[in-house]
Amino acid sequence: MNNLFIKNIYGAFRFFVKKHMLTNRQIFFEHIAQTTPEPMGLEITHAKGIYLYDKNNTEYIDLVSGVSVSNLGHLHPKVTSAITEQLEKYMHLMVYGDFIQAPQVKLAKKLSDVLPDNLNCTYFVNSGSEAIDGALKLAKRCTGRREIIAFKNAYHGGTHGALSILGNEEMKNAFRPLLPDIRQLRYNNIKDLEQITEKTACVVVEPIQAEAGIILPENNFLEALNKRCKETGSLLIFDEIQMGFGRTGELFAFQKYNVTPDILCLAKAMGGGMPIGAFISSKENMSKLTYNPMLGHITTFGGHPVCCAAALASLNTIIEEKLPAQAEKKGKLFEENLINHPQVKTIRRVGLMLAVELKNHDSMDAINLLIKDKLIVDPFLFNMNAFRIAPPLIITEKEIEQISETITKCLDSIS
Ligand code: PLP
Repeated sequence: MNNLFIKNIYGAFRFFVKKHMLTNRQIFFEHIAQTTPEPMGLEITHAKGIYLYDKNNTEYIDLVSGVSVSNLGHLHPKVTSAITEQLEKYMHLMVYGDFIQAPQVKLAKKLSDVLPDNLNCTYFVNSGSEAIDGALKLAKRCTGRREIIAFKNAYHGGTHGALSILGNEEMKNAFRPLLPDIRQLRYNNIKDLEQITEKTACVVVEPIQAEAGIILPENNFLEALNKRCKETGSLLIFDEIQMGFGRTGELFAFQKYNVTPDILCLAKAMGGGMPIGAFISSKENMSKLTYNPMLGHITTFGGHPVCCAAALASLNTIIEEKLPAQAEKKGKLFEENLINHPQVKTIRRVGLMLAVELKNHDSMDAINLLIKDKLIVDPFLFNMNAFRIAPPLIITEKEIEQISETITKCLDSIS
């Protein structure tokens, strides 16, 4: 064999490899639908607790928790054993609602035990957006009304129903027509509540606005909202999809205020890393989904037994390990460590979720700065001035001290 022949064969081999053996990164950009022009694009091979690792085994610290999902950190042993145990019994059996499945039953009972009496009946779904859509349908069905009220700068999800009540016009414009009869009020504006009338089926609110950059209710706003809903017979829907399961310092955010919603929407942290959501209301309200029409909401995978088993283990662990109380203490520690830095303009915080606003830099500057030191933080959808710190609730105080030191050093390096 002469050299030229070998060279040609080698060249053809390289061409074949290049064409057919794409890297994960190439496949990601070529064959996975993208939603931003510049995704972070970290390639994570494994994760444990608050740590993520790439293929070079570089360790990153997760200060986002997959956007308030991994409250128990990654691969919590109680969650993974619950999953393994259920996998040995069964996975999907039947579309939602027909069979009695122990993981669903146990989870629904536990949720009823920890929630007020009027939230005693759970409809399991697959995601936050589906929980919102289900809740909107339930409110229409229960009241016979059409109008839906929501708030500016609120995020409720990406399906057509959830998008219709999104508090940001720019994100909706390309997808119109959306649901009719939607009215958008200003969050924390008591005067606007007069627009809730006998025509209003429901008011959907995040008790603490997350994607707006952590905006807390002021001047008893939620109490006033609840009062107006009671006066008009409109159902009050709380979207705790991002804030639920201990993030705020309470198991659920509404427990911080003197208000119980008529319908509670949950997802994200609910499954301990598995996909599951729920809308929860009274048995009386929920019974309306069984007639006029029957099958008022249908889902194939809602309440998947493996996800329910994971969700129950996760909920039990959050309660047993008193993670809500820890969230408050740990969040405060983060805040105290960072608030006096000359680059920090302000910090808004609830529990272990912080919106850190810098004086001279926006959230993308902060993200690009901190990732160099392997800290993963995130922007908010509707507030580009602040970056998000929302680590798993199992983070230790020692880790917070170390991370705060790294953040401080990073902030020292900019002007
Ligand atoms: N509601 C809130 C407050 C959220 O933060 C999100 C997601 O970020 C949703 C609803 C939608 O949840 P999902 O993405 O699971 O559909």
